[in-house]
Amino acid sequence: MRAFGAVGGNPLLAAEGRGSSIKSIDGKEYLDYVGSYGALILGHAHPKIVSAVKRAIDSGSSFGTTNIKEVELAKEICSAFPSIEKVRLVNSGTEAVMGALKLAKAFTKRKLIIKFKECYHGWSEQSYLEARFNDLESVKKLISKEVAAIIVEPVAGNSGVIPPGEDFLRGLRKICDKNDILLIFDEVITGFRVSFGGAQELYGVKADLTCLGKIIGGGFPIGAFGGKEEIMKLLAPEGPVYQAGTFSGNPASVTAGLETLKALKNKKIYAKLEEKTKILCEGMTCLGDRLKISRVGSMFGFQIDDYPSFFWKMINSGIYFAPSAREANFVSAAHSFEDIEETIRAVRSSNV
Ligand SMILES: *Cc1c(COP(=O)(O)O)cnc(C)c1O
Repeated sequence: MRAFGAVGGNPLLAAEGRGSSIKSIDGKEYLDYVGSYGALILGHAHPKIVSAVKRAIDSGSSFGTTNIKEVELAKEICSAFPSIEKVRLVNSGTEAVMGALKLAKAFTKRKLIIKFKECYHGWSEQSYLEARFNDLESVKKLISKEVAAIIVEPVAGNSGVIPPGEDFLRGLRKICDKNDILLIFDEVITGFRVSFGGAQELYGVKADLTCLGKIIGGGFPIGAFGGKEEIMKLLAPEGPVYQAGTFSGNPASVTAGLETLKALKNKKIYAKLEEKTKILCEGMTCLGDRLKISRVGSMFGFQIDDYPSFFWKMINSGIYFAPSAREANFVSAAHSFEDIEETIRAVRSSNV
Protein backbone atom coordinates (compact mmCIF):
# COMPACT_ATOMS: atom_id res chain seq x y z
CA MET A 1 0.00 0.00 0.00
CA ARG A 2 3.03 2.28 0.11
CA ALA A 3 3.93 1.45 -3.51
CA PHE A 4 2.71 4.76 -5.01
CA GLY A 5 0.14 2.80 -7.01
CA ALA A 6 -1.98 5.92 -7.64
CA VAL A 7 0.88 8.07 -8.96
CA GLY A 8 3.32 5.50 -10.42
CA GLY A 9 7.07 5.45 -9.88
CA ASN A 10 8.95 4.51 -6.76
CA PRO A 11 7.91 5.55 -3.25
CA LEU A 12 10.18 7.78 -1.16
CA LEU A 13 12.49 5.74 1.00
CA ALA A 14 12.49 7.79 4.18
CA ALA A 15 15.76 8.20 6.06
CA GLU A 16 14.84 10.86 8.62
CA GLY A 17 12.24 13.41 9.58
CA ARG A 18 12.70 16.77 11.35
CA GLY A 19 9.89 19.21 11.98
CA SER A 20 8.07 19.84 8.71
CA SER A 21 10.38 17.91 6.43
CA ILE A 22 11.58 14.44 5.62
CA LYS A 23 14.79 13.35 4.00
CA SER A 24 14.92 10.37 1.67
CA ILE A 25 17.74 7.88 1.68
CA ASP A 26 19.40 9.63 -1.28
CA GLY A 27 19.73 12.80 0.81
CA LYS A 28 16.92 14.83 -0.82
CA GLU A 29 14.71 16.88 1.47
CA TYR A 30 10.94 17.34 1.12
CA LEU A 31 8.39 19.50 2.88
CA ASP A 32 6.02 16.87 4.20
CA TYR A 33 2.24 17.27 3.95
CA VAL A 34 1.51 13.61 4.65
CA GLY A 35 2.71 13.69 8.27
CA SER A 36 2.34 9.93 8.70
CA TYR A 37 -1.24 10.24 7.41
CA GLY A 38 -2.11 12.92 9.90
CA ALA A 39 -0.57 11.41 13.03
CA LEU A 40 2.24 13.99 13.28
CA ILE A 41 0.36 17.16 14.17
CA LEU A 42 3.51 18.49 15.90
CA GLY A 43 5.81 17.46 13.06
CA HIS A 44 8.63 14.92 12.96
CA ALA A 45 10.87 14.13 15.93
CA HIS A 46 9.36 16.78 18.20
CA PRO A 47 12.07 17.29 20.87
CA LYS A 48 9.66 16.99 23.83
CA ILE A 49 8.15 13.78 22.51
CA VAL A 50 11.54 12.29 21.69
CA SER A 51 13.00 12.99 25.12
CA ALA A 52 9.87 11.88 27.00
CA VAL A 53 9.73 8.60 25.08
CA LYS A 54 13.45 8.00 25.60
CA ARG A 55 12.97 8.49 29.33
CA ALA A 56 9.93 6.20 29.32
CA ILE A 57 11.56 3.30 27.51
CA ASP A 58 14.64 3.57 29.70
CA SER A 59 12.27 2.22 32.33
CA GLY A 60 10.78 -0.56 30.21
CA SER A 61 8.78 -0.61 27.00
CA SER A 62 5.90 -2.94 27.78
CA PHE A 63 4.58 -4.50 30.96
CA GLY A 64 1.38 -6.38 30.26
CA THR A 65 0.04 -4.67 33.34
CA THR A 66 -1.34 -1.18 33.76
CA ASN A 67 1.02 1.79 33.87
CA ILE A 68 0.16 5.25 35.16
CA LYS A 69 0.62 7.07 31.84
CA GLU A 70 -2.00 4.84 30.27
CA VAL A 71 -4.45 6.01 32.91
CA GLU A 72 -3.45 9.64 32.38
CA LEU A 73 -3.97 9.40 28.62
CA ALA A 74 -7.38 7.80 29.14
CA LYS A 75 -8.34 10.69 31.43
CA GLU A 76 -7.17 13.26 28.89
CA ILE A 77 -9.24 11.63 26.17
CA CYS A 78 -12.35 11.51 28.36
CA SER A 79 -12.02 15.16 29.32
CA ALA A 80 -11.48 16.29 25.71
CA PHE A 81 -14.52 14.33 24.45
CA PRO A 82 -17.58 14.77 26.68
CA SER A 83 -19.28 11.87 24.86
CA ILE A 84 -16.51 9.51 26.00
CA GLU A 85 -17.20 8.43 29.57
CA LYS A 86 -14.99 5.39 29.35
CA VAL A 87 -12.25 4.51 26.89
CA ARG A 88 -10.30 1.41 25.85
CA LEU A 89 -6.81 1.77 24.40
CA VAL A 90 -5.78 -0.51 21.54
CA ASN A 91 -2.92 -0.57 19.02
CA SER A 92 -4.35 0.88 15.80
CA GLY A 93 -7.30 2.67 14.28
CA THR A 94 -8.36 -0.59 12.65
CA GLU A 95 -8.56 -2.25 16.06
CA ALA A 96 -10.49 0.68 17.48
CA VAL A 97 -13.14 0.28 14.78
CA MET A 98 -13.29 -3.50 15.31
CA GLY A 99 -13.87 -2.92 19.02
CA ALA A 100 -16.54 -0.30 18.54
CA LEU A 101 -18.47 -2.40 16.00
CA LYS A 102 -18.29 -5.54 18.13
CA LEU A 103 -19.58 -3.59 21.10
CA ALA A 104 -22.36 -1.91 19.10
CA LYS A 105 -23.64 -5.28 17.90
CA ALA A 106 -23.58 -6.72 21.42
CA PHE A 107 -25.29 -3.68 22.97
CA THR A 108 -28.13 -3.47 20.43
CA LYS A 109 -28.38 -7.24 19.84
CA ARG A 110 -28.52 -6.42 16.12
CA LYS A 111 -26.22 -7.37 13.28
CA LEU A 112 -26.15 -4.77 10.51
CA ILE A 113 -23.80 -1.81 10.16
CA ILE A 114 -24.26 1.14 7.81
CA LYS A 115 -21.16 2.88 6.49
CA PHE A 116 -20.50 5.44 3.76
CA LYS A 117 -18.88 4.68 0.45
CA GLU A 118 -16.54 7.68 0.82
CA CYS A 119 -15.24 6.66 4.26
CA TYR A 120 -12.42 4.37 5.37
CA HIS A 121 -12.38 2.47 8.64
CA GLY A 122 -9.29 0.27 8.44
CA TRP A 123 -8.74 -3.12 6.85
CA SER A 124 -10.78 -5.47 9.03
CA GLU A 125 -13.30 -7.67 7.29
CA GLN A 126 -16.79 -6.35 7.95
CA SER A 127 -19.97 -6.54 5.97
CA TYR A 128 -21.67 -3.23 5.63
CA LEU A 129 -24.70 -1.66 4.12
CA GLU A 130 -23.39 1.26 2.12
CA ALA A 131 -24.85 4.77 1.97
CA ARG A 132 -23.50 7.98 0.43
CA PHE A 133 -21.79 10.69 2.48
CA ASN A 134 -23.86 13.87 2.82
CA ASP A 135 -26.96 12.02 1.58
CA LEU A 136 -29.44 11.36 4.42
CA GLU A 137 -31.98 9.88 2.01
CA SER A 138 -29.52 7.12 1.09
CA VAL A 139 -29.26 6.33 4.82
CA LYS A 140 -33.01 6.30 5.46
CA LYS A 141 -33.47 3.67 2.74
CA LEU A 142 -31.23 1.28 4.67
CA ILE A 143 -32.81 1.66 8.11
CA SER A 144 -34.42 -1.42 9.65
CA LYS A 145 -34.80 -3.11 13.04
CA GLU A 146 -31.63 -5.07 12.26
CA VAL A 147 -29.30 -2.07 12.09
CA ALA A 148 -26.96 -1.87 15.10
CA ALA A 149 -24.92 1.20 14.16
CA ILE A 150 -24.04 3.83 11.64
CA ILE A 151 -20.30 4.47 11.39
CA VAL A 152 -19.02 7.64 9.75
CA GLU A 153 -15.92 9.78 9.45
CA PRO A 154 -17.48 13.11 10.46
CA VAL A 155 -15.18 14.78 7.93
CA ALA A 156 -14.54 12.28 5.14
CA GLY A 157 -10.75 12.14 4.98
CA ASN A 158 -10.13 9.19 2.72
CA SER A 159 -11.83 10.48 -0.46
CA GLY A 160 -10.03 13.75 -0.57
CA VAL A 161 -11.44 15.94 2.22
CA ILE A 162 -15.23 16.22 2.25
CA PRO A 163 -16.72 18.46 4.94
CA PRO A 164 -20.11 17.34 6.28
CA GLY A 165 -23.03 19.28 4.85
CA GLU A 166 -24.98 21.69 7.04
CA ASP A 167 -27.33 19.14 8.61
CA PHE A 168 -25.70 15.84 7.76
CA LEU A 169 -24.26 14.90 11.16
CA ARG A 170 -27.25 16.25 13.07
CA GLY A 171 -29.49 14.31 10.67
CA LEU A 172 -27.60 11.10 11.39
CA ARG A 173 -27.94 11.75 15.13
CA LYS A 174 -31.72 12.11 14.70
CA ILE A 175 -32.08 8.97 12.58
CA CYS A 176 -30.10 7.00 15.18
CA ASP A 177 -32.10 8.32 18.13
CA LYS A 178 -35.39 7.57 16.42
CA ASN A 179 -34.44 3.98 15.59
CA ASP A 180 -32.34 3.00 18.63
CA ILE A 181 -29.26 2.78 16.43
CA LEU A 182 -25.81 3.70 17.76
CA LEU A 183 -23.92 6.50 16.05
CA ILE A 184 -20.19 5.79 15.78
CA PHE A 185 -17.83 8.58 14.81
CA ASP A 186 -14.56 7.35 13.38
CA GLU A 187 -12.40 10.26 14.49
CA VAL A 188 -9.11 8.47 13.86
CA ILE A 189 -8.08 11.43 11.68
CA THR A 190 -10.29 14.24 13.00
CA GLY A 191 -9.81 13.61 16.74
CA PHE A 192 -7.50 16.33 18.10
CA ARG A 193 -7.00 17.48 14.47
CA VAL A 194 -9.99 19.63 13.47
CA SER A 195 -10.17 20.86 17.07
CA PHE A 196 -9.02 19.53 20.45
CA GLY A 197 -12.36 17.79 20.97
CA GLY A 198 -12.48 16.57 17.38
CA ALA A 199 -15.32 16.94 14.90
CA GLN A 200 -17.81 16.47 17.75
CA GLU A 201 -16.66 19.72 19.30
CA LEU A 202 -16.41 21.52 15.94
CA TYR A 203 -19.91 20.56 14.76
CA GLY A 204 -21.63 20.15 18.12
CA VAL A 205 -22.90 16.60 17.53
CA LYS A 206 -22.20 13.79 20.01
CA ALA A 207 -21.51 10.21 19.05
CA ASP A 208 -22.44 7.16 21.14
CA LEU A 209 -19.07 5.59 20.41
CA THR A 210 -15.93 7.26 19.10
CA CYS A 211 -12.85 5.74 17.48
CA LEU A 212 -9.49 7.47 17.82
CA GLY A 213 -5.95 6.77 16.64
CA LYS A 214 -3.19 8.61 14.77
CA ILE A 215 -2.62 11.85 16.78
CA ILE A 216 -3.22 10.26 20.21
CA GLY A 217 -0.09 8.13 19.70
CA GLY A 218 2.19 11.08 18.91
CA GLY A 219 3.79 9.08 16.06
CA PHE A 220 3.63 5.69 17.78
CA PRO A 221 1.12 2.88 17.18
CA ILE A 222 -2.17 3.39 19.01
CA GLY A 223 -5.92 3.34 18.76
CA ALA A 224 -8.78 3.93 21.19
CA PHE A 225 -12.52 3.55 21.33
CA GLY A 226 -14.87 4.88 23.92
CA GLY A 227 -18.28 6.26 24.67
CA LYS A 228 -21.20 5.98 27.00
CA GLU A 229 -20.62 4.09 30.23
CA GLU A 230 -23.70 1.91 29.71
CA ILE A 231 -22.25 0.67 26.41
CA MET A 232 -18.59 0.47 27.45
CA LYS A 233 -19.36 -1.59 30.55
CA LEU A 234 -20.26 -4.50 28.28
CA LEU A 235 -16.53 -4.84 27.55
CA ALA A 236 -14.53 -7.52 29.36
CA PRO A 237 -13.68 -7.80 32.19
CA GLU A 238 -16.83 -5.94 33.38
CA GLY A 239 -19.00 -7.46 30.67
CA PRO A 240 -19.09 -10.35 28.19
CA VAL A 241 -17.57 -8.67 25.09
CA TYR A 242 -14.00 -9.89 24.92
CA GLN A 243 -11.22 -7.52 23.94
CA ALA A 244 -7.54 -7.49 24.91
CA GLY A 245 -4.14 -6.61 23.49
CA THR A 246 -0.57 -7.45 24.51
CA PHE A 247 0.79 -3.99 23.67
CA SER A 248 -2.30 -1.94 24.45
CA GLY A 249 -1.42 1.14 26.51
CA ASN A 250 2.32 0.51 26.15
CA PRO A 251 4.53 3.22 27.72
CA ALA A 252 6.11 4.44 24.46
CA SER A 253 2.81 5.14 22.69
CA VAL A 254 0.97 6.60 25.65
CA THR A 255 3.92 8.82 26.62
CA ALA A 256 4.16 10.20 23.07
CA GLY A 257 0.39 10.66 23.04
CA LEU A 258 0.35 12.48 26.37
CA GLU A 259 3.15 14.85 25.30
CA THR A 260 1.24 15.59 22.10
CA LEU A 261 -2.03 16.36 23.88
CA LYS A 262 -0.16 18.52 26.39
CA ALA A 263 1.23 20.63 23.54
CA LEU A 264 -2.18 20.78 21.82
CA LYS A 265 -3.78 22.22 24.93
CA ASN A 266 -2.24 25.52 23.94
CA LYS A 267 -5.44 26.50 22.15
CA LYS A 268 -3.64 29.05 20.00
CA ILE A 269 -2.14 26.11 18.20
CA TYR A 270 -5.38 25.36 16.33
CA ALA A 271 -5.87 28.95 15.21
CA LYS A 272 -2.33 29.01 13.88
CA LEU A 273 -2.69 25.65 12.12
CA GLU A 274 -5.86 26.90 10.51
CA GLU A 275 -4.27 30.18 9.44
CA LYS A 276 -1.32 28.47 7.77
CA THR A 277 -3.51 25.93 6.01
CA LYS A 278 -5.86 28.66 4.81
CA ILE A 279 -2.97 30.64 3.33
CA LEU A 280 -1.70 27.52 1.60
CA CYS A 281 -5.09 26.56 0.17
CA GLU A 282 -5.77 30.11 -1.00
CA GLY A 283 -2.31 30.21 -2.55
CA MET A 284 -3.01 27.01 -4.45
CA THR A 285 -6.02 28.62 -6.14
CA CYS A 286 -3.45 30.32 -8.40
CA LEU A 287 -3.99 27.25 -10.58
CA GLY A 288 -7.56 28.37 -11.18
CA ASP A 289 -10.25 25.90 -12.18
CA ARG A 290 -7.71 23.19 -12.87
CA LEU A 291 -7.41 22.52 -9.13
CA LYS A 292 -10.34 21.98 -6.78
CA ILE A 293 -9.44 22.23 -3.13
CA SER A 294 -11.33 21.59 0.10
CA ARG A 295 -10.24 22.11 3.68
CA VAL A 296 -11.35 21.64 7.27
CA GLY A 297 -8.94 23.15 9.80
CA SER A 298 -5.47 21.87 8.99
CA MET A 299 -6.56 19.03 6.72
CA PHE A 300 -7.04 19.58 3.01
CA GLY A 301 -7.57 17.63 -0.17
CA PHE A 302 -7.44 18.56 -3.81
CA GLN A 303 -8.50 17.23 -7.17
CA ILE A 304 -6.58 18.00 -10.29
CA ASP A 305 -6.95 16.33 -13.69
CA ASP A 306 -3.52 14.79 -13.97
CA TYR A 307 -2.79 14.18 -10.31
CA PRO A 308 0.27 11.95 -10.92
CA SER A 309 1.96 14.56 -13.09
CA PHE A 310 1.28 17.31 -10.53
CA PHE A 311 2.46 15.05 -7.70
CA TRP A 312 5.82 14.37 -9.42
CA LYS A 313 6.35 18.01 -10.33
CA MET A 314 5.88 18.84 -6.67
CA ILE A 315 8.27 16.07 -5.61
CA ASN A 316 10.87 17.52 -7.98
CA SER A 317 10.38 20.87 -6.23
CA GLY A 318 10.88 19.25 -2.83
CA ILE A 319 7.21 19.09 -1.78
CA TYR A 320 5.67 15.83 -0.64
CA PHE A 321 1.88 15.82 -1.02
CA ALA A 322 -0.18 12.66 -0.44
CA PRO A 323 0.64 10.07 -3.13
CA SER A 324 -3.05 9.73 -4.03
CA ALA A 325 -5.82 12.30 -4.55
CA ARG A 326 -7.93 10.18 -2.19
CA GLU A 327 -5.64 10.80 0.79
CA ALA A 328 -5.86 13.94 2.87
CA ASN A 329 -2.93 16.32 3.30
CA PHE A 330 -1.99 17.85 6.63
CA VAL A 331 -0.25 20.96 7.92
CA SER A 332 1.58 20.49 11.22
CA ALA A 333 2.56 22.92 13.95
CA ALA A 334 6.13 22.54 12.68
CA HIS A 335 5.32 24.04 9.26
CA SER A 336 6.52 27.65 9.17
CA PHE A 337 4.97 30.48 7.19
CA GLU A 338 8.12 30.30 5.04
CA ASP A 339 7.40 26.62 4.35
CA ILE A 340 3.91 27.59 3.23
CA GLU A 341 5.23 30.36 0.95
CA GLU A 342 7.79 27.98 -0.54
CA THR A 343 5.03 25.49 -1.27
CA ILE A 344 2.85 28.11 -2.95
CA ARG A 345 5.79 29.22 -5.12
CA ALA A 346 6.37 25.62 -6.18
CA VAL A 347 2.68 25.14 -7.02
CA ARG A 348 2.64 28.40 -9.01
CA SER A 349 5.68 27.45 -11.07
CA SER A 350 4.45 23.90 -11.69
CA ASN A 351 2.91 24.94 -15.00
CA VAL A 352 0.06 22.48 -14.81
C1 LIG B 1 -6.10 5.60 9.41
C2 LIG B 1 -7.54 5.36 9.63
C3 LIG B 1 -8.01 4.16 10.20
C4 LIG B 1 -7.12 2.99 10.47
O1 LIG B 1 -6.13 3.27 11.39
P1 LIG B 1 -4.80 2.34 11.39
O2 LIG B 1 -4.04 2.82 12.61
O3 LIG B 1 -4.10 2.61 10.09
O4 LIG B 1 -5.26 0.93 11.51
C5 LIG B 1 -9.35 4.06 10.50
N1 LIG B 1 -10.20 5.07 10.24
C6 LIG B 1 -9.79 6.22 9.69
C7 LIG B 1 -10.77 7.32 9.47
C8 LIG B 1 -8.45 6.39 9.34
O5 LIG B 1 -8.05 7.51 8.74
